[in-house]
Amino acid sequence: MLRAFQSLGFAVFPCKWKTRSLHFFPQLIPISNPANFPAEFSSPTVFFQSRCRGLKMSADRSESNSDAASSSTSSNSSSAAMASTTHKPKVSFCQSCGGPTMHVIPEGEEKMRAVCSLCGKIHYENPKMVVGCLVEHNNKVLLCKRKIQPSYGLWTLPAGFLEIGESAAEGATRETLEEACAEVEVLSPFAQLDIPRIGQSYVIFRSKLKKPQFSPGPESLDCALFSLDEIPFDSLAFSSIYVTLKMYIEDVKTGAFKFHYCTINKRPGSSPSDPLGFALDYHLHS
Ligand SMILES: [Zn+2]
Repeated sequence: MLRAFQSLGFAVFPCKWKTRSLHFFPQLIPISNPANFPAEFSSPTVFFQSRCRGLKMSADRSESNSDAASSSTSSNSSSAAMASTTHKPKVSFCQSCGGPTMHVIPEGEEKMRAVCSLCGKIHYENPKMVVGCLVEHNNKVLLCKRKIQPSYGLWTLPAGFLEIGESAAEGATRETLEEACAEVEVLSPFAQLDIPRIGQSYVIFRSKLKKPQFSPGPESLDCALFSLDEIPFDSLAFSSIYVTLKMYIEDVKTGAFKFHYCTINKRPGSSPSDPLGFALDYHLHS
């Protein structure tokens, strides 16, 4: 349930954006020269890369850009290009005329597209935005136990797909009302997390309860406030939630909330809902 990569335009990020140490994430990324990294990254098998430069993948991260939901497991630029030409579009029938689609690379393009065999319409596939709230209350955060697949029975922040006609903040508050029956006020944007290979981009807002009341909605088995040292990190639903909560805890420790941008790449062979099956390739913050 996650992706996006394209149009953020890193070149326009102000220079005050910084990279950040991510030693709290248990990702497994082989490195060619561990000695170049700080002590907290010196484990032979565990460390994170965090860079404040272009989004182009480097060849030494070949296992970091996997995708359980995709046939491709490549990550460097050439293999990524190959993946774009071998990716099979999921659209089988034309959304305009209902005709069957064929999978071809249209003239002047580089990617395989679903093209209607009757009217010729090209069906582009674009990432979906997932919006949610990190609800704070009395030094605790609100989590929901999922009553639906994927990740049934695991904990998540209230979040879901943004719908046409609503802003990201509106969608996040709506999802929180639906999943936790909680009325919240958005305080600030907290994180954007792109998960390119499964086509999702998360936007998470810090928010607070308007009233100290919540209860499980139809998609939740349970809802509860957790103090930061009680968060069930071994029972979280998604990698995006894992990353968000880890960043939040770090910000609470420093006493300064930032806006974070991350790119999460699913690891080869991992389930889309495996909360630890990912590599965090970029982490920038304000
Ligand atoms: Zn058509």
